[in-house]
Amino acid sequence: MYTCNFNLALDQTLSEEIYWPASFTISLNEGENEISIPLSFNLPTLQDVASDLVFKLNLVHMSTIDLVTIKSSDYPSADSPHLILRNADGSSAIYHEAAKSNGDRLSDAIVSFLVDATEAIFAELEKKDFMAVIKRPLPQMSQEMMNELRLVYKDGYYFGPYDPTADYDDRFTIHPLGSAFSGLATLDQGTDYANVKGSTNDPHISGYSWLGLWASYYGGAQCCSSLNFHNFQCNNNLVGGHCLLGQHASTVRPGAYDVVFIIPICNAHNNNNNYYMSPVKYRRIIVLKSYLR
Ligand SMILES: [Zn+2]
Repeated sequence: MYTCNFNLALDQTLSEEIYWPASFTISLNEGENEISIPLSFNLPTLQDVASDLVFKLNLVHMSTIDLVTIKSSDYPSADSPHLILRNADGSSAIYHEAAKSNGDRLSDAIVSFLVDATEAIFAELEKKDFMAVIKRPLPQMSQEMMNELRLVYKDGYYFGPYDPTADYDDRFTIHPLGSAFSGLATLDQGTDYANVKGSTNDPHISGYSWLGLWASYYGGAQCCSSLNFHNFQCNNNLVGGHCLLGQHASTVRPGAYDVVFIIPICNAHNNNNNYYMSPVKYRRIIVLKSYLR
């Protein structure tokens, strides 16, 4: 079985009251991994009752595309990062960020630790050799926008944004954004990317809503992410481009090692599959699932 091991160097300044080990080794298998990091604490109210405090998080490792996904602490899911407090009497309590603090010092300390610890681990993961992706809640959207942001998969592999004018036979399946959304990540400087081929070139279908989705996480884009790279003549009409890593525009080939993502590009780039791009202006991306399991 494939396993990936790495050390996390953990910052001790997160909290005055709850500490984690200075370094921690994580061993990842393919698929879902539940990680438990033991904590120590210095809270009078806690010391009276608690015997054990553990930070739990779920990391999904997809070795075929070299990607590790973590959920943000406010992602609405039972396996988003949480703390488990075991009491001396054998009872236990689970703290999610969504459960929020009930105002006492203990729950305040726990909730703020949860938020900071998740961000700190994501920052550490971003330094590693794989692509680190954080799954955050989807923005509030109208039903109309939700409908525009559907995705099409062919034989289970990513095909492109949903085009209401296209005919899809039974090799295709159409999925809401939620099921096809992997999360947010940052491209390394100098990473090349190219268009996903096969998706529509109609900017209304392929671009404006996707640009809006990108903006809802990162703010409005002012120009093409790959502005004038290799003397390419960019224009000011931006879309949320559906792109792949590498220098060759291509379809998502079944079984290939593809990462599909959204990044702002101009429609000159979007309509030209002969040029590859590089994140000279924007590096932040929205990662989609290249295949649905
Ligand atoms: Zn451009």
